[in-house]
Amino acid sequence: MKFTELGLAPEILRAIADQGYETPTPIQAQAIPIVIAGRDLMACAQTGTGKTAGFTLPLLNRLAAGRPAGATGPRKIRVLILTPTRELAAQVEESVRTYGAHLPVKSMVMFGGVGMNPQISALRHGIDILVATPGRLLDHAQQRNVDLSAVEVLVLDEADRMLDMGFIHDIKRVITLLPKKRQNLLFSATFSEEIKALATGLLNQPEYVEAARKNVTAELVRQKVYKVDRERKRDLLVDLIRDNNWYQVLVFTRTKWGANGLADKLLKAGIEADAIHGNKSQNARTRALANFKSGKLHVLVATDIAARGIDIDELPYVVNYELPNVAEDYVHRIGRTGRAGSEGEAISLVCVDERKLLHDIERLIKRQIEETIYPGYEPDPSIRAEPILMRSSAGRGGARPQGGGRSGGAPRPGGAPSGNRSGPAKPGGASHRSGSRNR
Ligand code: AMP
Repeated sequence: MKFTELGLAPEILRAIADQGYETPTPIQAQAIPIVIAGRDLMACAQTGTGKTAGFTLPLLNRLAAGRPAGATGPRKIRVLILTPTRELAAQVEESVRTYGAHLPVKSMVMFGGVGMNPQISALRHGIDILVATPGRLLDHAQQRNVDLSAVEVLVLDEADRMLDMGFIHDIKRVITLLPKKRQNLLFSATFSEEIKALATGLLNQPEYVEAARKNVTAELVRQKVYKVDRERKRDLLVDLIRDNNWYQVLVFTRTKWGANGLADKLLKAGIEADAIHGNKSQNARTRALANFKSGKLHVLVATDIAARGIDIDELPYVVNYELPNVAEDYVHRIGRTGRAGSEGEAISLVCVDERKLLHDIERLIKRQIEETIYPGYEPDPSIRAEPILMRSSAGRGGARPQGGGRSGGAPRPGGAPSGNRSGPAKPGGASHRSGSRNR
């Protein structure tokens, strides 16, 4: 399949060529014709699959055909893209600019934490494509700064993350401001019951596409389990990093407390490490990520939700310091490594408490992961399994009962985030809930 076979306008093909892309990714090859045909779409695709171009290219194609017959005066918003975070909104709008470079299309990114007035004046000048986080969009809508009456296409990007962050009510309110007749595209990394419920209410006879879960079958990711006692994981990780000279390691923990504690321990052991999670300010997270990418930090410790949606992949090593509660998250985690032809290694430190989680993962990926023991870390057979609590790792700190997983968990009252599933914090540390969100 070539980009030229997808029916895209020459200006868009030129922008694609400028980027050096030769062939559409699987999600692009599947999604683009559906979106061009005007159909509703439910797409299961995570970051790194090329999903952004999967919806951006055909939407630009729609706008490339010109304004609707009879349209006069300033441009009205024809495409609305909602994202859970500022970072993602900025990334998506950047893609719109990149792929729309040769088209007379106007786009704008809108999120909270910055002044309203520049956004108001940009809106007045006329916008074709608006990329926004839901909270700030509603603020503008309340003040009647934004006219959504001409929206032809609604895109929900990383919809599962928006639900995790408690945006369901905001999304529903935005939808009431849109024309009833429109095209809807829903992108999500997972297909949980909550997402299915959202899709049922939103989509009209949708087509369904799924990016091949390359990591399930990826031969390029070497997966390995180290059996180790719960209390010795930290020491084992330090030894593994030192003995093998690992230089760019993304380490996953289940909780924010665990992420902090582990980063501290690594620092004390002389390993350059930092943690990213929902309680860290935007600045702290951006800085940690930049340092990790540049090689200044050797280890980045992250919770699942903090790691999703940010652009870090093609890593040589991913370590599951703790196995995720939801087996699907394992696939997302190890998807950070072994991309684009480079080999990667996904290592899991598994204690006796986690045997069932490991079993669930192996069932999902339909293969057994090689198990081994690092010399000097032979598990003590007398240690009994304990229930997994959402606590700081190594058992310190306040224990909390385990929260439900994203796909299987009980609905949270009011859609507020729970446990380590809360989204990035507002500067100042407040977590996202209805009422104190990322505006
Ligand atoms: P996304 O999944 O949208 O976050 O995209 C992941 C990365 O893939 C981005 O850095 C894109 O620039 C890149 N990309 C998107 N489409 C293609 C393509 N067809 N060929 C090569 N790279 C691509």
